[in-house]
Amino acid sequence: MLTVKNLSFSYQKTPVLKGISFKVKQGEYLAVIGESGSGKSTLLNLLFGEYDLDKGEIFWKDNQILGPKYNLVVGYDFMKYVHQEFNLMPFITVEENIGKHLSNFFKKEKKERTAELLEVVELTAFAKTKVKTLSGGQKQRVALARALAKQTEIILLDEPFSHIDNFKKQSLRRSVFKYLKDNNITCIVATHDKEDVLGFADNMIVLHDTKIAVNNTPENLFKNPKTPLIASFFGEFNVINNDIIYAHQLQVVEKSELKVIVTKSYFKGHYYLIEGDLDGETVFFEHEHKLKANHSVYLKKK
Ligand code: ADP
Ligand code: MG
Repeated sequence: MLTVKNLSFSYQKTPVLKGISFKVKQGEYLAVIGESGSGKSTLLNLLFGEYDLDKGEIFWKDNQILGPKYNLVVGYDFMKYVHQEFNLMPFITVEENIGKHLSNFFKKEKKERTAELLEVVELTAFAKTKVKTLSGGQKQRVALARALAKQTEIILLDEPFSHIDNFKKQSLRRSVFKYLKDNNITCIVATHDKEDVLGFADNMIVLHDTKIAVNNTPENLFKNPKTPLIASFFGEFNVINNDIIYAHQLQVVEKSELKVIVTKSYFKGHYYLIEGDLDGETVFFEHEHKLKANHSVYLKKK
């Protein structure tokens, strides 16, 4: 179990995080979300022991995570961290980077382990390629594999798929999160992409204004987003009569109280996102067909 108790931290004078407490069970995945600058990377840095806390405590099982004031070398054997910038060695190959921290005494094991991880991150064909020639997304995958190379109990990932193209993203996510679950590795992922969360995370915390705004399952937060900030993480939404209503929850009906004048239709694949005007306020709803601008329609919550 990872236990964070009443953590507060500031780089200079302004507090970045205040009174943060949460727990993560072994083998669980906690997503940390929040707007840019809300302190996601800072929280991961603190969990890794990169800075000393102003207040509070962090424990992994019985081990207290301490900052540089107490440790000559930052980091612990049971924890790995993949930073937003991935610090690889550019002039050696992909497989050498992945195996960098594996012992040469066990040549066969090292080879097998590297091969297994190359498969997890779908880079088998690039094993012998020098890292400097790779794209940003490929480098990010090497960094992931390198962090997984040695046995770890807990892994911290900062926007782990941000540089990876859409062609690869979905299958890579499934493969990485499956690997972590199968190996009972606790993971904390900072992200602003809902696709990293839905279907994978056990719990998510939302950082806002130095605090944890909510800590719940993605399903509960999606179904009952208490604030516009939470709703905006999941998709287009409206606030109508103080009620948060997602665009997909509105449908066009014959007649209703909500008369909307269409302003724009956006093609979204299997639906159109329609932008409209409701008494001077912008509303979004989803519709099967494109709608003409200036056309009026009536909406109802499904
Ligand atoms: P996020 O990862 O959610 O985008 P960060 O944790 O990077 O947010 O940043 C949180 C706040 O701390 C921001 O206001 C940022 O400018 C500030 N900050 C981040 N790193 C440093 C640093 N090394 N020194 C001073 N301020 C920092
Ligand atoms: Mg960040």
